[in-house]
Amino acid sequence: MAMVCVVVMLVTVLAGVAGCMQAQTSSNSPTAQSTTTPTQTAPTTSALPTTAPANIQSYTGPFVGSKNSDVYHYPWCYEAKKIKSENLVVFATVADACAANYRPCEVCNPPACTPSSTPTATPTPTQLPTQALVSGPASFAQGQAVTFTTTLNSVNEHKNVCGAVNYYIDDYAAGGTWNINPAGTCSASSGNLYLAGADTAKLSVGTHTLKIDWLGDSTYGPSQSVMTFTVTSPTPTATATPFPTATPFPTPTPFPTPTPFPVRTL
Ligand SMILES: [Zn+2]
Repeated sequence: MAMVCVVVMLVTVLAGVAGCMQAQTSSNSPTAQSTTTPTQTAPTTSALPTTAPANIQSYTGPFVGSKNSDVYHYPWCYEAKKIKSENLVVFATVADACAANYRPCEVCNPPACTPSSTPTATPTPTQLPTQALVSGPASFAQGQAVTFTTTLNSVNEHKNVCGAVNYYIDDYAAGGTWNINPAGTCSASSGNLYLAGADTAKLSVGTHTLKIDWLGDSTYGPSQSVMTFTVTSPTPTATATPFPTATPFPTPTPFPTPTPFPVRTL
């Protein structure tokens, strides 16, 4: 009884597998047929140019190759003309040929894959141009405290740029740094450099330069600005204008004779 049961089950399983296989083959046959039919219609060789155009540089396609090789040619290449029509493969562009892993023929030398398929990327500037401008007094005396101002803007965007600039007096590298808009919000594009009297006292009489140097950051490119200023002799000694003759103090009006306190009677 158990034996019969197993046999019956086996038969059903086999029948099921057979049915499945049958169903598979019958359902697969139409798709198998459609894949074998070529998606590209056979190129008509008559449309291909048989001679090179006058301006070969402007020729962008089509190019030809053989199914039995991995070389693409200009259609007028004598090597290409040897390809049997049933083996001929036509590529609309070099990019198409390269996409199919074909390489340029060394006889007719068609445009190479890399330059024509991927246009050479023009290097995009990583930093935007900036313009720094320093200004301040054209002349001041030794020992006089002065303030210089610098503005820093992006040229194209007309935006404020902020950060630290280096400054140099007479190209003296150890000038220091100078914060443009130290708050860092870039709400203002200018910053002041304050030179105390003790600092300007060290400068010689004559012409000096003040150079500011913005090194740039990841967004904004570097820029510089230079101005000249003249330091004169200290005001009190040499160029001191004489004190104006002191206007005499006005004769004080005499205090009015105080009226005597009234004698208090108790
Ligand atoms: Zn060729």
